[in-house]
Amino acid sequence: MNPLLAAHRHTWDNRTEIEASTLCGCCSCMEVFPAEEIVAWTGLDTSSFDHLDTASGATALCPRCGSEALIGDKAGFSLSPDFLGRMNQAWFQKTIIRKPVAKKP
Ligand SMILES: [Zn+2]
Repeated sequence: MNPLLAAHRHTWDNRTEIEASTLCGCCSCMEVFPAEEIVAWTGLDTSSFDHLDTASGATALCPRCGSEALIGDKAGFSLSPDFLGRMNQAWFQKTIIRKPVAKKP
């Protein structure tokens, strides 16, 4: 599978993986920060509103920009600026940057 697509699968429903990670990267703002900075989780199950202390969503939100676009180091992908940059291009700008193919004369 294309690594950008494979990595995208790790940006939602990722609570277990994020909590097991040391560092997280954001594909939106491209910051890298310690996983314990994440305090907000989305995807809250509204049937658990009676138990908000224990309820939580399953998808991490970025503490810097609020996007649902975090990937933990446990996902096994590089959190390098290059990789996060390509993730950002693919998923936020819907753009893939390719070198032009030389045309045959
Ligand atoms: Zn962010």
